[in-house]
This record gives sequence, structure tokens and C-alpha cells, in this order.
Amino acid sequence: MTTPQVPNLTLNDGHTIPQLGFGVFLVDPQETERIVTDALELGYRHIDTAAIYRNEEGVGRAIAKSGIPREELFITTKLWNGDQGTESAHAAIDTSLEKLGLDYVDLYLIHWPVPAQDKYLESWLALEQIKASGKARSIGVSNFLVDHLQRVIDGSSTVPAVNQIELHPAYQQREVTDFGQANGILTEAWGPLGQGKYPLLEEPIITAAASKHGKSAAQVVLRWHLQQGTIVFPKSNSRERIAENIDVFDFELSDAEVQAITALERGGRVGGHPLEVK
Ligand code: NAD
Repeated sequence: MTTPQVPNLTLNDGHTIPQLGFGVFLVDPQETERIVTDALELGYRHIDTAAIYRNEEGVGRAIAKSGIPREELFITTKLWNGDQGTESAHAAIDTSLEKLGLDYVDLYLIHWPVPAQDKYLESWLALEQIKASGKARSIGVSNFLVDHLQRVIDGSSTVPAVNQIELHPAYQQREVTDFGQANGILTEAWGPLGQGKYPLLEEPIITAAASKHGKSAAQVVLRWHLQQGTIVFPKSNSRERIAENIDVFDFELSDAEVQAITALERGGRVGGHPLEVK
């Protein structure tokens, strides 16, 4: 099998990130090693995990077993809400690195802003120190709205490299992505397929594009993300679908198809609200 050619994007700190990776939210800790091993065998080099997913050890075992040189991998993990704060963020990255069996992660994110506890700016300053220490190559945020992004930009000397937000054709968060684009923050889409909760893959516009290109509906949605410069890491437990989700670099949607899919915006949020998740 030839390894799919996943493009790299350049972050605002000069490091590069593979535009397509593999996410492990809701991957059972007992199954994680096997499933991430499948993903690595199928050509994925970018893995997105988080402390709260409780599967960092499985990710780490799959990495160790793969024999893939560390510099060819891009590993993201995230600071959980209860660990926000200076001391606790430093302790949390050490715990994550130990579980992953790594000396550094490529990207460390604040998982949610949790404005009610008002610690995300303090946590961001801790992430700056973590980057300076070499324990994270790049730092970013997740689920941040424009006000939260503006506050960390104004209150620190580092612009987040990425903002990882819920994003799919039915829920596009244009205000947040436009702000990111204007400020050099790349957008990562979580739930790129609508988490299977929103019936995106049955939308006639998407199924028509799929039959035209001889691809699946999921592949069409992933292509829509990629053609707009968004970073994606779809999750699946099935080896067949893991292979399908990276096989998206041999076709291109037309501008008209991209626009028709963009017109599916419905305000269809499937996950938690950044002002409410604690
Ligand atoms: P997703 O949109 O990737 O959907 C996953 C579901 O889609 C799977 O369970 C499966 O049912 C279905 N699916 C996958 N491939 C398919 C295919 N080829 N055909 C048909 N159905 C398919 O949602 P996700 O897993 O929530 O998001 C991706 C990743 O984003 C996560 O694994 C995680 O790494 C990250 N994430 C981050 C946050 C955050 O708060 N930062 C929240 C959720 C997810």
C-alpha cells in the first residue's frame, strides 16, 4: 500500500502540522493501542488525544510499538478544565507526557475556556512556559470564542497556533474562523463529520457529490474541510473507515460543490457550548 500524501500546514510559530490526522475521543482505553496501530499502519502520522479521553497510554503504546521515528509524528494532547491554573497545568503536561511515553508533544491545547472559573489566561501563560521548556513544540486552544481569543492575545506574547472547535457543514462558526484567519490562528475541526449525530452524510448535496466523484459521503465532507484549509482528524473504530477517511487526496470538489455544501449551515451544534462546559 502506498502512504497517502497528507499535506502539511505551517503554524504561526513555524512548525508544521499534517492537515489530516486521527482523533481518539470515545476510543475505549482498552482498544486504543490496536486502533491507533491501525491508523499508523494506514498512513496517519497526526494523532489527537486529550487527558480527559483517558487513552493517552494506549496512544503511547501504539507509538512505541510502531517504530516510526518521533520526528515523523505529530501528537496533540489537551489540558483538562480541572487542571487549569499555573502549577496544575505544569503537573498536567508532565502526567500526559508520562502516559504517552514522550519527551514532548507537538501541540498542547487548553481544552475548553471555562470562563466561569476565569483561569484560561493564567493557564495560557503556563502553556507559554511549557512551550519554552520544550515539553510542547506548539501551543493552542480549543473551543475558544472570539472574546476568549482576544483576551489571550492581549494578555500574552503568543498568539495561539490553532483553535480546535466544533465545525462541520451544518455548524461552521464563521465569526470564530474569520477571527482566526485574520490573526494567524489555524482552525482545527472537531466533529468534522458531525459525530454521526447530525445526519450530514445523508444530505442530497453531499451524496450527489459522492456519486459523481466515486467517493463516500464522509470523504466528500472531509474534502470540503481540507479545501478550505481546515485541519481534520476524523475518528472511527473500524479499520475500513480509518482507511476510507485518509483516502481523500485523489479528487477535488468544484467551487460550486464547495459552495453548495457551505450552504448547509443550520446552526446544528452537536457538542457542548463553550460558555457552559465546566
Ligand atoms: P467525527 O465527526 O469524527 O465523527 C466520528 C463518528 O463518525 C464515528 O464514531 C463514526 O460513527 C462516524 N464515522 C467516522 N468515519 C466514518 C465514515 N467514513 N463513514 C461514516 N461514518 C463515519 O467526531 P469526533 O470523533 O467527535 O471528532 C473527531 C476528533 O475531534 C475526536 O476524535 C477528538 O480527537 C476531537 N474532538 C475534540 C473535542 C474538543 O472539545 N476539543 C470534542 C470532540 C472531539
